[in-house]
Amino acid sequence: MTTATATAFTARYGGSPDGVWAAPGRINLIGEHTDYNEGYVLPAALPHTTTVAARRRADGVVRLFSAQGDGEVTELALDALAPGSVPGWAAYPAGVFWALIEAGHALGGADLAFCSDVPTGAGLSSSATLECATAIALDDLFGLGLDAPGRALIAQRAENAFVGVPCGALDQMASSCCVAGHAHFLDTRTLTGRQVPLDLPAVGLTLLVIDTKVKHDLGDGAYAGLRAGCERAAALLGVPALRDITIAELGTAEAQLPAELRPLLRHVVTEDQRVLDTVAALDAGEPRALGPILTAGHASLRDDYRVSCPETDLAVSAANAAGALGARMMGGGFGGSVLALVDTALLDTVERAVHAAFAEAGFGAPQTFTATPSQGAHRVS
Ligand code: ADP
Ligand code: MG
Repeated sequence: MTTATATAFTARYGGSPDGVWAAPGRINLIGEHTDYNEGYVLPAALPHTTTVAARRRADGVVRLFSAQGDGEVTELALDALAPGSVPGWAAYPAGVFWALIEAGHALGGADLAFCSDVPTGAGLSSSATLECATAIALDDLFGLGLDAPGRALIAQRAENAFVGVPCGALDQMASSCCVAGHAHFLDTRTLTGRQVPLDLPAVGLTLLVIDTKVKHDLGDGAYAGLRAGCERAAALLGVPALRDITIAELGTAEAQLPAELRPLLRHVVTEDQRVLDTVAALDAGEPRALGPILTAGHASLRDDYRVSCPETDLAVSAANAAGALGARMMGGGFGGSVLALVDTALLDTVERAVHAAFAEAGFGAPQTFTATPSQGAHRVS
């Protein structure tokens, strides 16, 4: 990947890059739709990365190329960057230049070429990989002195304000801050947390990702509606965010809400508890306990939050029927990927069962791969 990225750089711009950086996609073990409720998440970085080869320029010009993009080099003037001004994929890296300038950093122009093996639109945070790779490259090239959480916040600002996607901090914090062999337990209110050791191969377990390859259109509007519903529920309950309601207070709180907001509250409160339960199980050396927690999380997303779809439901039920310890959809919903916890000895059986179930249902073939907790954004060469 590194060589391919440097080659793509030279083919577009001539000469050699000043360096090559990589930012990984992520899974999220548990903690879905909790980040914008200021709750808990538990991501781990994938071995799949977006790499960027980059070189400083003396003028204020930014050039952007992606091997997975539109085939064009996008050329921009640094002093003309404004939210909404850059169409398509280039808005993600351009937004990072903009967010760094907005935060008061002194930047020059640069040439960037991206290469990625992170599936896009699959709930694995490919958009955050573009942003976080750009942020670490610019941090190094211009000596900005940021740390990993600082780069993540710049990346999130780029996606929120420049691209216009109102995402929480999960994706960018995961891509920037994860550590190999660990899951990153993160409180998204304080942005504090800790690395939780996650050595599943040592206990004969594997995390299987099933990319359903579908993305239903209702996703974008639904996300904004769910977010607004959570904010309304928090306001009615008189708390800053739904993370302030504990599992013990859930029943009382539900009774104070109109019927249509109760399922949203139920999902968020029980999901935060599932993150805490998962961390407790990992700390206690009981990783097999994750299985039922994953499946309960899926039921909550399907029945209360209502963001599942036939393809993700089928991937979960087929994996579980074939012997997975548990499974759930990941990401915003309406498609994307499913995460299953599987005894390594049963991996082939589960993968085959999921493929067979998709074929029988007349769905397109999913893509399956295993997820080894990997390193967050870093310099490669
Ligand atoms: P996710 O982040 O879950 O993969 P998003 O919808 O947030 O899904 O981001 C997907 C978008 O990010 C794609 O439609 C594309 O515009 C952009 N993108 C991601 N990776 C790349 C890449 N390597 N090259 C070009 N565009 C990319
Ligand atoms: Mg994204």
